[in-house]
Amino acid sequence: MYLGHYAIAFAAKRASPGTSLGTLIFASQFIDILWPLFVLLGLEKVAVDPGNTVVTPLRFVQYPFTHSLLSVLIWACLFASLYWMVSRNRTGTLTVWLAVLSHWVLDFFTHAPDLPLYPGSEKTVGLGLWNSLSGTLALEVGIFIIGVILYLRATRPANRTGTYSFIALLVFLIVTYVINILGPPPPDYKAVAYSALLWWLLVPWGYWVDRNRHLKVGSGQRPGKLKFKGKRL
Ligand SMILES: [Zn+2]
Repeated sequence: MYLGHYAIAFAAKRASPGTSLGTLIFASQFIDILWPLFVLLGLEKVAVDPGNTVVTPLRFVQYPFTHSLLSVLIWACLFASLYWMVSRNRTGTLTVWLAVLSHWVLDFFTHAPDLPLYPGSEKTVGLGLWNSLSGTLALEVGIFIIGVILYLRATRPANRTGTYSFIALLVFLIVTYVINILGPPPPDYKAVAYSALLWWLLVPWGYWVDRNRHLKVGSGQRPGKLKFKGKRL
């Protein structure tokens, strides 16, 4: 799952307008953002194995610290606690907690049964939607479109940067998604991990987009009046 995680971040903006898109992307992609670091440190393992599933040539040999259900629960609690300490935003805290957890749920649908329930668990799960290209595209592109629509309903550009930074983000996500699916398999696990570090870039990108967009008027509010006042974190 790739686009789907960003779709959650976009959709979450409507649930918690006071939370920056940057934070929401950080949350929904948190365990994938940590993952390349764990791989490069040798704590988790991924192998390039073309044909492993139809959609990805990657075989996730082990990723107990970032992708086991228990670990994700712990990361979600840590992330949400930190967010609460910084923002004191109750809705935002619940939203980022759910966003971190949502990652595992979406991965559960797409990954081969390789997601552990807890570090060291023998049982691994995953519904393996990646074995069907059309099924994967239907789910992923479907939720991506819904996420983008919800985001556009929640915000409007404050200036030109607000328009173009968001369009550029969508183009970047779609192009990298297509390259991932159609491109040749990466040469080795290190290339996978180093290119996955690119995901870090999308967090400041999200803050940049957010700073250049206003929140849309909620029902019953005067045009131009922001639904949420104060600093968006
Ligand atoms: Zn993941």
